[in-house]
Amino acid sequence: MKIDHDFHIHTALSICANGHDTALEGYFERAKATGITKLGFANHFWDSNIPCTVCPEFYLPQNFEHLSKLLCELDGVDGFEFYFGCEGEYDPVRRDVGISEEIAEKFDYIIVPNSHTHMTLDGAYYDDLSRQKEILLQAFGDIVNSKVSKYIKAIAHPFEVVGYSVEKHRELYDTITDDEFCRVFDMAAERGIAYEINFDMMMWKTRDEVAALPTVRLYRLAKECGCKFIFGSDAHGYEGYRDYAPACEFMADLLGLKEDDISALAK
Ligand SMILES: [Zn+2]
Ligand SMILES: [Zn+2]
Repeated sequence: MKIDHDFHIHTALSICANGHDTALEGYFERAKATGITKLGFANHFWDSNIPCTVCPEFYLPQNFEHLSKLLCELDGVDGFEFYFGCEGEYDPVRRDVGISEEIAEKFDYIIVPNSHTHMTLDGAYYDDLSRQKEILLQAFGDIVNSKVSKYIKAIAHPFEVVGYSVEKHRELYDTITDDEFCRVFDMAAERGIAYEINFDMMMWKTRDEVAALPTVRLYRLAKECGCKFIFGSDAHGYEGYRDYAPACEFMADLLGLKEDDISALAK
């Protein structure tokens, strides 16, 4: 299946993109060359209206005013459909998302990960798979049941722990049963919150390695549960971006995805 969208692009407005090649023209050129016509920008975000409980030094500068600078940067550029989004954050203290309704409605779409546990979980528990499992399942459930859930269009890199290797992910997933995954995937399907297939896991890998990724089990379960899918590069720069569309198309075909399996946002 042809993939013509990317709803998870970071620009220089994301602090962690510092040091990467983030010129928008670099993205545009590569997107054009591979048939990506819908570009969704999802820079990291925490809403200043909500007390910041997760890495304030990282999130406080990345407020709405800061992210809005993108709109000026995109002004006058044509040839693409642009979407002004954000990658919000899970707030483990309020057990909700760090975005108020007042601000949520200003975005074209919002994605939220359950798996930024390098920030939401005490570092002492980072290698503790039972603690990871507990917070990942809890966060997923809390995000789909958030007060702003109607604005959330996808769970970003579900259960993909920042900094975990492929093998560490496999170990983690071995501790979670199909039923435990399906309990939260069913809720996402019911709320119309898509499952993001994130290119970061596939980047710099051969097709055989991609087909053997432990996340493939999760994609298949999400599909069985009736979740819709959306693709996102999670690019923090355009290095490696040329393989984004081909890799996503490979995965879509491996999973047997059809147009109907794709989130309405990407149509
Ligand atoms: Zn993320
Ligand atoms: Zn991201």
